[in-house]
Amino acid sequence: RQADVECALLVLGAGPGGYTAAFRAADLGLDTVLVERYQALGGVCLNVGCIPSKALLHAAAVIDEAAHAADYGIAFGKPKIDLDALRAHKQKVVGQFNKGLAGMAKQRKVRVLAGSGAFVSPNEIEVDDGKGGTQLVRFEQCIVAAGSQALKLPGFPWDDPRVMDSTDALELAGTPKKLLVVGGGIIGLEMATVYRALGSEITVVELADQLMPGADKDLVKPLADRLKKQGVAIHLKTKVVEAKAQKNGIACSFEGESIPETKLFDRVLVAVGRVPNGGKIDADRAGVRVGERGFIDVDRQMRTNVPHIFAIGDIVGQPMLAHKATHEGKLAAEVAAGEKKEWVSRVIPSVAYTDPEIAWVGVTETEAKAKGIKIGVGKFPWAASARAVGIGRGEGFTKLLFDEATHRVVGGAIVGPHAGELIAEVALAIEMGAEASDIGHTIHPHPTLSESVAMAAEVYEGTITDLY
Ligand code: FAD
Repeated sequence: RQADVECALLVLGAGPGGYTAAFRAADLGLDTVLVERYQALGGVCLNVGCIPSKALLHAAAVIDEAAHAADYGIAFGKPKIDLDALRAHKQKVVGQFNKGLAGMAKQRKVRVLAGSGAFVSPNEIEVDDGKGGTQLVRFEQCIVAAGSQALKLPGFPWDDPRVMDSTDALELAGTPKKLLVVGGGIIGLEMATVYRALGSEITVVELADQLMPGADKDLVKPLADRLKKQGVAIHLKTKVVEAKAQKNGIACSFEGESIPETKLFDRVLVAVGRVPNGGKIDADRAGVRVGERGFIDVDRQMRTNVPHIFAIGDIVGQPMLAHKATHEGKLAAEVAAGEKKEWVSRVIPSVAYTDPEIAWVGVTETEAKAKGIKIGVGKFPWAASARAVGIGRGEGFTKLLFDEATHRVVGGAIVGPHAGELIAEVALAIEMGAEASDIGHTIHPHPTLSESVAMAAEVYEGTITDLY
């Protein structure tokens, strides 16, 4: 069959990984086609992930900040929430960047094909526009960036709109009186933060023995304490065993160590993880090996087992984060364009944009213990930061982990407002191989929360013993 379109590089999927790869490749001179099943570019992150969730979390933060201002003598009234306007704001932010991406593709002469792509051979992908039309695209090289989607736990009545995944929750169809959040990971807790601020009564159930499994326990405590104070019911080591749609709500039954009192919910959000789309692109027809769980194995240049086919982003594994996808996308494009490069970054930061925020990077204490890595810890409590106390957030802390042999920083974690912004310095320090004294000798502006990073290094060094 004659190809309808020919190109040097086909990028499958226009999420942060895919559009970054396509734009970089085009900048490096490759004739690039970008295939995306949805009209709007930007993938999960822009359309139903990072960006809309953060727009809504900002609204939640404003509501909470106003409520807490009473602590220092400024009382606002009960917020009047116009859900339609809030939804429109979120959509406006997303739309602005959809438009921006379309413009960036056009500027670079990246040809965007709308439709669902699947391999038909190692050098061909068929794109189905869903309206009966198909196009055969022949490529010299390909970057698979088809991402992931929410895991739909079996046993839930998914045909009932009161059962939601994160995409549904971001639609903001209403403010349920009672909301059950299944899964106390980053996505579940961010959405819980939004809906609680909007007025929902929240119950969270989590299978593990802590919220946000993966982060050190001490980091999660200030968040759990605050959520509890705000009336969020948290049930650990507990799972939903049945969820039934009834006229008056979704009736759930639970199993575990902490069974919620409430059994009937107006809505249920299931946020128990994401599954890669590796099984949905007929990868076998190109000879690309897909693992059992749907992830595609790649080497340090993002090549699959078929050398001219690369894969990047959520589809290649954890952590499923946008900044990992973009970094991998850029690398794959550069390698495809002939540059001799490979993955060199040491660490990938994780951030939960909850209140307080939780951010960590590199080795965690839990991991160090499990792997027998000898580390030393420098911890600076924000109660000793006048700036943190001034904003009413003395419960936060900054923690740095050092290799005991070299005093080099190997990990760090921060809990408190703006932790997501602050963690970037720790990531840079790790990449640069900084020692505790390098961080301590770097003069940080006063009074800022960023000082806490230098202070944590100094606590480790023993150069400050008194926290003033
Ligand atoms: P995706 O963004 O999943 O994009 C893949 C694209 O491929 C999609 O547009 C899809 O439509 C398209 N596609 C798939 N199959 C085909 C096909 N066969 N043909 C054509 N097109 C196809 N990460 C962060 O770093 N920070 C955050 O704050 C954050 N918040 C999040 C909040 C939520 C609610 C969710 C769900 C996720 C969040 N993430 C966050 C994760 C982040 O969205 C993902 O890690 C990121 O989008 C992965 O990018 P990607 O390019 O690999 O894939």
